[in-house]
Amino acid sequence: MKTYTCHTDVTAPKYTHFAAFKTALAACCNAVIVKVCWHLAVKKDKSLNAQHLLDNSDFLTELLSAAGNDSAQLNWQHRGVQYAWLGEGILLLEPLAKAAQTDLVLSCGIHGNETAPIEICNRLVNAIVNGTLTLGVRLLVIVGNIPAMKQGTRFVDENLNRLFKPEQLTGDANQEQCRATELMAVLDQFYTAAGAGRRRIHLDLHTAIRGSKHEKFAVHPFLHGQPYCAEFIQLLAALECSAILLSHEPTGTFSYFSSRQYAAQAATVELGKVKPFGENRLQDYLATEHVLQELIAERFSPSSAGLPSTVSFFQVCRSIHKRSDEFHLSFADDIDNFTGFAKGERLCHDGDVSYVAEHEGEAIVFPNAGVAIGQRALLTLKRLDDPVAHLPLA
Ligand SMILES: [Zn+2]
Repeated sequence: MKTYTCHTDVTAPKYTHFAAFKTALAACCNAVIVKVCWHLAVKKDKSLNAQHLLDNSDFLTELLSAAGNDSAQLNWQHRGVQYAWLGEGILLLEPLAKAAQTDLVLSCGIHGNETAPIEICNRLVNAIVNGTLTLGVRLLVIVGNIPAMKQGTRFVDENLNRLFKPEQLTGDANQEQCRATELMAVLDQFYTAAGAGRRRIHLDLHTAIRGSKHEKFAVHPFLHGQPYCAEFIQLLAALECSAILLSHEPTGTFSYFSSRQYAAQAATVELGKVKPFGENRLQDYLATEHVLQELIAERFSPSSAGLPSTVSFFQVCRSIHKRSDEFHLSFADDIDNFTGFAKGERLCHDGDVSYVAEHEGEAIVFPNAGVAIGQRALLTLKRLDDPVAHLPLA
């Protein structure tokens, strides 16, 4: 087992937006949080009033805040499931009655303001807790960036989803760097405890900052020449992803870490546009959530073999990084992801350097002029006309 260490003494973040967080929790919270917190309360301090938790009182926020300070593992059993609270926002669920064949990671809130996936994971765990969903896999549920979630922002100090690079995480570390270290260690423990040769899946669930020509889409990690798994591509299609962006290089994303380090079938899954807690429309996620339920019950099977015809595949043409404070995008702020440009049309400029579309229909995704200097500000894409011919499949 690998050992990751973090040398910074991380104290609990100050809770500065209490009222807003309370409102957010009231909107998204349900019995699972209550039950998780109830167990937490019972284990931590028997003097806590469980009824307050069931009433959705302030104990919820206090306990969620306090959870990060408790280094002890908390375990309990309920309705045929072994639960382990491994750290703040990290819940392991294992079926007691059967030997699960699949190790499934569902992560959400890696960006703190991307609320829909947090609500989805909340409902899924709730269904397991109340017995309406049968757990068939080993399941690790992770709410990634809780301090950012509390303040309703993408991150506190820096983008967590660039930090899953174990070799870089030494010395002084900020909040996100420490969280990345913790989550990498948890993933290592989760995968290695069950042994090799099992089916490993990691879906890192997000919502995008802007609208998109493809409302739901996935970013598939770079595979270093290894073949793509047709069944996993089918799963992404079933989750209603109508586009899959094929990464062309190693990255610091959570899904790349799972894929590269543990050979998990992994992807960053974008489930629509970011909205505050309580403003996500349940009906937009019904089909996606149903497939996740099937996956958790170990009942999911692809509807057909080969590549799904409903999915467009995109390869990265260029990754444009911000080099100066004079970086500006040449299109409207609210442009959709996957918008195509005519050849020669200007995409952005950075001081004196202009970037134009190099081929007809070159599409853009994840434009963000506000990133730190040196970080990626824009990806450009080319659609694969004949994915069957271009994608090696396993
Ligand atoms: Zn995100």
